[in-house]
Amino acid sequence: MSTEPTSDWWAGIDTEDAEALLARSLEQFGNRMAIASSFSLEDAVVIDLAMKVRPDVRIFALDTGRLNPETYDCAEKLRWRYNVEMEWYFPEREAVEQLERTKGLFSFRDSIDNRKECCRIRKVDPLNRALKDLDAWVTGLRREQSVTREKLATIERDEGHGGIWKINPIASWTVDQLWDYTRREGLPYNSLYDRGYASIGCAPCTRAIEPGEDLRAGRWWWENPEHKECGLHVNMKQWSPSI
Ligand code: SF4
Repeated sequence: MSTEPTSDWWAGIDTEDAEALLARSLEQFGNRMAIASSFSLEDAVVIDLAMKVRPDVRIFALDTGRLNPETYDCAEKLRWRYNVEMEWYFPEREAVEQLERTKGLFSFRDSIDNRKECCRIRKVDPLNRALKDLDAWVTGLRREQSVTREKLATIERDEGHGGIWKINPIASWTVDQLWDYTRREGLPYNSLYDRGYASIGCAPCTRAIEPGEDLRAGRWWWENPEHKECGLHVNMKQWSPSI
């Protein structure tokens, strides 16, 4: 059940100001809000910004069973740094067993439908469980990342999850801003970036990118750019104090 909007929740703040938006959101939702992390550069920055406001902020993550070892290393470094419990969610065992027995281990390469089926089982269904009792969730999504995110709002109603709030505090940040912040604060980061990765996802569906390629070109590189979402960030309604 989502908390109904009130027009003054974000009154007087610049909703493009990541720190102010996070502070106001944490004040409003407390532990009914959690940060979703895939242990990307973006997620580490959002976690650090939020920890400065509220050290007991909740963080959840989806263990798809196909993540890179570097991603687990980064998750542990962040857990140690902030002494925080990572709320991991796994796919349903029966669904993964059925998928792998009937279609093999790489069915996601055969068609978009098969890829979406795998993402549904390993990501979307676990996300639904993670969000079930929340009023708001926070992401590290950015407009610069892809054509599917160019119009991303900082505050959305997540109609696919009961109308709960979705906060994207660093929507306007550039990749240079992310690295500046990461280096200045000495944050741990996923070592896949040192190998040319620009986006963090499942190991068999993510590769390093070439200079000049789109930041999400390494995700499902065999698909057209407009299909490159896994189903975690769909059915959103933009919201702003002026709407
Ligand atoms: S990103 Fe690839 S391996 Fe991961 S859930 Fe989606 S299709 Fe499956």
